[in-house]
Amino acid sequence: MHRIDCPWCGVRDEAEFQYQGDATVDPAPIGVDEDAAYRAVYLRGNPMGWHLEWWHHVGGCRRFVKVLRHTASHEIAATGYPDEELIAETGHVGEEQGVRR
Ligand SMILES: [Zn+2]
Repeated sequence: MHRIDCPWCGVRDEAEFQYQGDATVDPAPIGVDEDAAYRAVYLRGNPMGWHLEWWHHVGGCRRFVKVLRHTASHEIAATGYPDEELIAETGHVGEEQGVRR
């Protein structure tokens, strides 16, 4: 069982959270052409490695938390507020995820 550090509630059990998707893409782009909307809604990557994700704290404050998680080991390097730029202390994070080292 994993523990996720909610910025509002503190460290809580993973069972209180629900995965909500990739935090590196806009889930509902407005004012884009049909092809761009199709790509945003239906075409998603399946990265292996460090990934920036949205998690919803459904069993707590019901707010969205930004999580930097490794998709193979499930290790969580950082968590933060939705508008926060996460900085990993592991040094494993690539620039392609929009996260500074
Ligand atoms: Zn919370």
